[in-house]
Amino acid sequence: MSAVHTPVLGAEILDALGVRSDGSYIDCTVGEGGHTAMLLAAVAPPPRVLGIDLDASALATAGTRLASFGGAVTLAHGSYVDMKRLATEAGMDGADGIVMDLGLSSLQLETAERGFSFQTEARLDMRFDQGQEQSAWGVVNRTRERELADLIYALGEEPKSRRIASAIVKARPIETTSKLAETVAKAVGGRRGRTHPATRTFQALRMAVNAELENVQAGLERAMETLKPGGRLAVISFHSLEDRLVKVFMGQESRDCICPPKFLQCDCQHVASLKRVNKKVIKASDEELRANPRARSARLRVAELLEA
Ligand code: SAH
Repeated sequence: MSAVHTPVLGAEILDALGVRSDGSYIDCTVGEGGHTAMLLAAVAPPPRVLGIDLDASALATAGTRLASFGGAVTLAHGSYVDMKRLATEAGMDGADGIVMDLGLSSLQLETAERGFSFQTEARLDMRFDQGQEQSAWGVVNRTRERELADLIYALGEEPKSRRIASAIVKARPIETTSKLAETVAKAVGGRRGRTHPATRTFQALRMAVNAELENVQAGLERAMETLKPGGRLAVISFHSLEDRLVKVFMGQESRDCICPPKFLQCDCQHVASLKRVNKKVIKASDEELRANPRARSARLRVAELLEA
């Protein structure tokens, strides 16, 4: 299997951001540098790009791949939640465009020892940041049954979460991806069509280990503080819960009043700070889907920061 991560919706991202040589851009999730490489190559001379990732090994790969762009690109190890500080440290006073490509990379999924996949035997891990203390091992083996069921239900949208949590608790200690996958498969009973019965549980655990929804929400807020007026935010999500967060956030920030509809008079003093660039969510073209099946669930939303 190829472990090269093809950037998703690349042309649509370039189109959305309108990259300029004198612009500054932040790739919040640089991964192996796919989108960053596209931003750098979009115009000559290349713009300034700051690439952020929690994964130090992904950054090393990106560094090698992007070396030919020299000083145009700065890579920073950290969370996009800290993008404002990281941008200041990189000498950028705000961004003309920000890209967030959420979730995990193909390389992470396909590197067995990272423990993201139920298809390969590994110790339970699933951390984006290898320096983080909490791993999937801790969530699986240390969380109370009720809490585990709730998180598998909420983050995995798994209807059989209670049965799964109960089976996990009985099977503890669970050290490996394979034992977890087997435990879940037995609890759920058989395959559902073409997806493995542990798919939703693995997704939920990954999202919990990396506090993904919390980070997306905080990241969207930080992006607003980091964009220059007229700058654009482009967010790709792969998961309905993430996409809903992005949709609600962009919807609210592009409205003047966010009072509940039953209020007769506005009470919130909320002022719109964003303008939605695309009203409808952008999905991959048939051509891209043929070349890159990973793009199947990708949803792109773009908004522009209004002048203050
Ligand atoms: N756009 C990239 C692929 C990104 S995959 C490319 O084209 O190559 C998503 C990346 O986001 C992963 O590398 C993951 O480690 C990173 N990531 C996830 N949460 C993050 C966070 N809060 N801050 C920074 N990076 C994060």
